[in-house]
Amino acid sequence: MTRKEATSTLTKVRYERLKSSVLERDHFACLSHLGTLASGSTIPGLLMTETNVPPSSDIVDLAIIGAGPVGLFAAFYAGLRQMSVKIIDSLESLGGQLVTLYPEKYIYDVAGFPKVLAKDLAASLVEQGMQYGAIACLGEQTQTVEVDPAGGFAITTSHTTHHARSVVICAGMGSFSPKKLPIPNEPQLIGRGLYYFVKSMEEFRGKRVLVVGGGDSAVDWANMLHPIAASVTLIHRRDGFRAHEDSVEKMRACNAVNIRVFYELRAIEAGTDGRIARATIYDNRTNADESIEVDAVLVNIGFANSLGPIKNWGLTLEKNAIVVDSTMKTSRPGIFAAGDVCTYLGKLKLIATGFGEAAIAVNFAKTMIDPKAKLFPGHSSDMELPAQVSH
Ligand SMILES: Cc1cc2nc3c(=O)[nH]c(=O)nc-3n(C[C@H](O)[C@H](O)[C@H](O)COP(=O)(O)OP(=O)(O)OC[C@H]3O[C@@H](n4cnc5c(N)ncnc54)[C@H](O)[C@@H]3O)c2cc1C
Repeated sequence: MTRKEATSTLTKVRYERLKSSVLERDHFACLSHLGTLASGSTIPGLLMTETNVPPSSDIVDLAIIGAGPVGLFAAFYAGLRQMSVKIIDSLESLGGQLVTLYPEKYIYDVAGFPKVLAKDLAASLVEQGMQYGAIACLGEQTQTVEVDPAGGFAITTSHTTHHARSVVICAGMGSFSPKKLPIPNEPQLIGRGLYYFVKSMEEFRGKRVLVVGGGDSAVDWANMLHPIAASVTLIHRRDGFRAHEDSVEKMRACNAVNIRVFYELRAIEAGTDGRIARATIYDNRTNADESIEVDAVLVNIGFANSLGPIKNWGLTLEKNAIVVDSTMKTSRPGIFAAGDVCTYLGKLKLIATGFGEAAIAVNFAKTMIDPKAKLFPGHSSDMELPAQVSH
C-alpha cells in the first residue's frame, strides 16, 4: 500500500467510524452552526450531518480550545499529522477576532498576503483548517480541563464533556464582549439600529450613522462607512484619539466625517417602528444637550475581555496569559497553548506568530501521544497530503 493509499484508507476508516456513531443531542446543537461563517459562507470539507456525528464520549487525538486564526491553523496542522480533532469555541462562528471584531478591516502583515480582508483570511483559514474533518463544536464555552482517569483529558463545556488525548489552548484574549452603553433602553435597541460590531457594511448604506468612540475601531469605521452612509458623525469624549495617527489624519482630511470632540452620548430614542430615530449627545465641557437625527449608532468604546474559566485550570499565568516554554507546553503536562493566549520572552501578539506557535504545539502534542512519531513531519510540499474526506 502506498503512503497515499494508506492515508486515504485511514481517513475513510475515521469517516466510517464517525458515520456509524450515535448522534447525541448536545452535538446536534453544535451542528446547526457548523458549516457557516458569520458571513454565511459555507465551510468546505467534512460537513457534519445527523448520520456522521461522533458521540462526545469518543476520544479524539487533539482538542483545540478556540477557533480563531491560530486554532484553525492548529486544526489544519493536526490534520496534516493525521490527528483526529475537535475544535471548540464559545462563539457561534469560526474565525475568532477576525470575524467578530474586524471582519471588514484589511490586514497587511500576514506573510504572502500584501493586503487581505480579515473576513477573507478567516474564510481561507476555515477552508484550510477544516479540510481533514475536524469537528467544530460552536457555542460551547470550555469550563474545565481535567485529567481523565480513563486516559487523556475530559474537557467540560457549557454543553457537554469532550474527551481528547491532548489539548492545545488557542483561546486568544479569552471570551470577549463589547463594553455596553449605560442607557436604560440599550437592550431594546439591539437589532434596531444599535451596533457594537459591523458584520456587514451594507447594513449602513444610505443611513445616518453616529459612531461613538476614539479608538482604532471607531475611527476606522468612520473612514470606511462615510462613502456608503448618508452621513457619519463621530463623537469622542476628549480631543485626543487613541486611534492610529494615520487613520485620524485620514478622517480629518476627508471632510466627510462630522467629528465632534468633547461630546458624549446621553440617550437614544426609537421611532414608532421601534428603530433608532434620534440621539441626544452632550458637550461634556458645558453639559449642553443636542438632539440629532440618526438611523444607526455604532458604539466602539472598547472590549471587556477575560480569560474566564481558563484562570482556574491550574496553569501558570502571567499578566492574563498562559506561560509556555519553547515547545508551547504549559505548566500542565499534555496541555499546550498557542496564539494570543500564550506568553514567553519576546512574545508578539500577531497572527503570523501564532501560526508558527500552532505548528510547534501540534507537533509536540503529536509526539506526546505517539512517541514513535517524528517531531518534524517534513515540508508539506514534499508530502502526499491526506485525502479530503468525501461523502
Ligand atoms: C481591531 C484589530 C485589528 C487587528 N489587526 C491585526 C493585524 O493587522 N495583524 C495581526 O497580526 N493581528 C491583528 N490583530 C490581532 C489578531 O486579531 C490576533 O492576534 C489574533 O486574532 C489572535 O488569534 P487567536 O486565534 O490566538 O485568538 P482569537 O482570534 O482571539 O480567537 C480565540 C477564540 O477562542 C475563543 N475562546 C476563548 N475562551 C474560550 C473558552 N473558554 N471556551 C471556548 N472558546 C473560547 C474565543 O471565542 C475566540 O473565538 C488585530 C486585532 C484587533 C482587535
